[in-house]
Amino acid sequence: MRAQPKASHFIDGEYVEDTAGTPFESVYPATGEVIARLHAATPAIVEKAIASAKRAQVEWAKASPSARGRILKRAADIIRERNRELAELETLDTGKPIQETTVADPASGADSFEFFGGIAAAALNGEHIPLGGDWAYTKRVPLGVCVGIGAWNYPQQIACWKGAPALICGNAMVFKPSENTPLGALKIAEILIEAGLPKGLYNVIQGDRSTGPLLVNHPDVAKVSLTGSVPTGRKVAEAAAGHLKHVTMELGGKSPLIVFDDADIDSAIGGAMLGNFYSTGQVCSNGTRVFVHKAVKKEFLSRLKARTEAILIGDPMDEATQLGPVINRAQQEKILSYIAKGKAEGATLVTGGAIPNNVSADGCYIQPTVFADVTDTMTIAREEIFGPVMCVLDFDGEDEVIERANATEFGLSAGVFTRDLSRGHRVVDRLEAGTLWINTYNLCPVEIPFGGVKQSGFGRENSTAAINHYSEIKTVYVAMGKVDAPY
Ligand code: NAD
Repeated sequence: MRAQPKASHFIDGEYVEDTAGTPFESVYPATGEVIARLHAATPAIVEKAIASAKRAQVEWAKASPSARGRILKRAADIIRERNRELAELETLDTGKPIQETTVADPASGADSFEFFGGIAAAALNGEHIPLGGDWAYTKRVPLGVCVGIGAWNYPQQIACWKGAPALICGNAMVFKPSENTPLGALKIAEILIEAGLPKGLYNVIQGDRSTGPLLVNHPDVAKVSLTGSVPTGRKVAEAAAGHLKHVTMELGGKSPLIVFDDADIDSAIGGAMLGNFYSTGQVCSNGTRVFVHKAVKKEFLSRLKARTEAILIGDPMDEATQLGPVINRAQQEKILSYIAKGKAEGATLVTGGAIPNNVSADGCYIQPTVFADVTDTMTIAREEIFGPVMCVLDFDGEDEVIERANATEFGLSAGVFTRDLSRGHRVVDRLEAGTLWINTYNLCPVEIPFGGVKQSGFGRENSTAAINHYSEIKTVYVAMGKVDAPY
């Protein structure tokens, strides 16, 4: 049991077990090895986590924002010092290659703690509003106990992206990682305590879709931030609406990436590959509908095929490996069934489409796959696959491609590759998405807001925008004279 934590949950500053909870295993997706055995939270564990958060939040709300920020910045430093250890854990949790996790996962969590720790002293100021003799002021106040629910693809990053803004605003957080990746968030909770965070402010409990509602429906929870699929988002938003709770929804996508005929083709191919194969395609903002102008289609596909076939698939712990497995067998089968549908519905398989033969059959691997001649109505062009499957669609004109790019219920992200600066800005202006890129793809530094429109969700993570989603404004009107009443 090479990644066994001390216990399943982390509550009030310490590891806690309740063996009455449903047992479940954490499995390393590259080999099928059981790396930890845990228990889902019982209702008693949920109560304990929320009660501890509620108690701790009262004192935390009184601390100065800069004092809160200092603790987060210390946590950022500890995460960076332990980057290797955390990256290895992330690789075991998710199967993502160590080549990625050493640069992307704990690093982005540390960036988030550092950014929010750094802005804490300035970002929570209120306003003074002059009203003639009278005046008013506003205060930013915390919401209380916030719940974070995570997806499996970026477990450490999601635990930090939700925790950092929640904590600097003076809230407490109870975080439930995905049942597929239960380990990383426990380490983040441990590190926060080591950095000096008072006990109870960041609790982690385990569980699956049956545990989530216990948190969402709890009367002492003020806010829920979910990263997950659209169907889960609908359920969580509906439950939260019943209590009029604040919600942030970071959901799925089927994002367009448009390559015009004047684009730097090598960069466009690089962007499309990063936007489809990084993290074995398990990235919400991926540009999975790659619209390529007919004039450059042939060149684009031939160079894309060569570069895709050169991707090194293998043991995620090997520094050379560029593509690891997907999260589990069910996801692998789901992706293979989408590939079968792509073929059956008439798309051209350019490369990939099968289980690679150079890796353990116990791992959940899939070759990086490219389909060409994909049309808008094919299943693979409409549904989120969440695996290393790129769909290339052809187009002729700017208006046409914008209309087709927007013809989806999703609206998470979009990208445009062109050397024409005005076209780049004109096109992104008309694309319906929350986060867009010109001449790159999927870069999400903490300084920029991230989130979706349409069915991809609402609310924003990262940047100063996140402060609005973890605090509310209290307005105080101050009268300086006598009350002038007509009766
Ligand atoms: P999922 O929707 O199956 O699960 C997400 C989380 O919600 C898990 O922790 C799960 O246990 C929990 N959950 C499930 N049902 C629940 C319920 N009724 N009440 C409360 N909690 C519940 O998603 P997943 O399969 O883990 O992750 C993949 C999905 O996440 C994809 O659709 C992907 O696009 C999306 N995603 C979005 C973002 C983003 O920032 N927009 C980031 C990463 C992943």
